[in-house]
Amino acid sequence: MVEEKTTVDMETLVSLCKRRGFIFQSSEIYGGVGGSWDYGPFGVELKRNIKNVWWRDIVQRRDDIVGLDAGILMHPRVWEASGHVDSFTDPLVDCKNCKKRFRADHVEDEVCPECGGELTEPRLFNLMLKTFLGPVEDDASLTYLRPETAQGMFVNFGNVLEASRRKLPFGIAQIGKAFRNEITPRNFTFRTREFEQMEIEYFVKPGTDEEWHQRWVEERFDWYVKYGLRPEFLRLREHEGDELAHYSKATHDIEYLFPFGWAELEGISNRTDFDLRQHALSSGREMTYFDEESGTHIVPYIIEPSGGVDRAALAFLVDAYREEKVRKRKRVVLSFHPELAPVKVAVLPLLRNRPELVALAKEIAADLRLHVMTMYDDTASIGRLYRRQDEIGTPFCVTVDVESLEDNAVTIRERDSMEQTRVPIPEVKDNLLASLGTV
Ligand SMILES: [Zn+2]
Repeated sequence: MVEEKTTVDMETLVSLCKRRGFIFQSSEIYGGVGGSWDYGPFGVELKRNIKNVWWRDIVQRRDDIVGLDAGILMHPRVWEASGHVDSFTDPLVDCKNCKKRFRADHVEDEVCPECGGELTEPRLFNLMLKTFLGPVEDDASLTYLRPETAQGMFVNFGNVLEASRRKLPFGIAQIGKAFRNEITPRNFTFRTREFEQMEIEYFVKPGTDEEWHQRWVEERFDWYVKYGLRPEFLRLREHEGDELAHYSKATHDIEYLFPFGWAELEGISNRTDFDLRQHALSSGREMTYFDEESGTHIVPYIIEPSGGVDRAALAFLVDAYREEKVRKRKRVVLSFHPELAPVKVAVLPLLRNRPELVALAKEIAADLRLHVMTMYDDTASIGRLYRRQDEIGTPFCVTVDVESLEDNAVTIRERDSMEQTRVPIPEVKDNLLASLGTV
């Protein structure tokens, strides 16, 4: 193989995602809807795999973090206490000519980027999506779809502390949907109105917060590298004073070099004791921790690693993309880390008009399916079947050929090297599980 191309432009990626069933435009048959995307058969597997490895690494393999699944709908006062009603706003300008609306910080020279028309003065626009609880649309029933999963963890601080008997430092982790009424959703699944977050709220003693902040920045950076992102496409960026969120003492972004430039994958913030103090004040409940060492009640500081599942999925897709020339033909491969690959093994009969081959291949696939995500496919010639699996990033293909009926063996083809190995059928399962790193 030669002429390796290891970057991809957005148009190519969006087209691959649609063609191969990773990501579709929402409500496409009605012309689509801005800022919402649907994950197809392979996209949903990729996304689940990302969430599963995150949950396993963050919750199940640590003894200092517990999980939570809080509701999307919360008491409206949560959003007053959190500061979102007052501060979660973007300054907007309208074009007086074409009536289009832009974020004030996205336009230069104070003229419309579409038509050059005159713009209005900036006005503040709240990014929370409003909704109404119950059948009456009045102010009393107004609430919001959560703009972050974090608040569910803050308001449950006391419940979790009580139920889990944790000592500081400890964390609560949650994966879930959040909603923001972005003015200009863009860059495919990067900036959307509906998205999924994977967030940790890590409670620490005041005074140890800066050290824990640094530890979490390093840990989260390494996590993305562990699952395949090239370190040279990752960087850390510290927020400047004026871009810090209203609750934050310091924020470091982990940024990835997307085809549209460097952009945030995950933000790690030192939220101080802001959130617990706000909710204590607003609810009238104690939000403290009894520190045995000092014999006093303290309000913990919070370190928050907050990642986007959709952004992670997009970065893993972009980073996995390879174009090669193999015997003068273009080969497109998604070189996913095996843990993230949507399908781990594809079983393919070399000839689809031979019932004995088809039966044997289906039998092998049925056995493998009990252990790993396995796909059987006989809908094209073997060359096309390989190309399809390369394009969805399947690490291994098992090919059943005429010889298999004689020698009771099959060929295992590895995705990146395209190396083929003959393996006796009784050893296929253990061989593949070992290669996939699941035993
Ligand atoms: Zn205009």
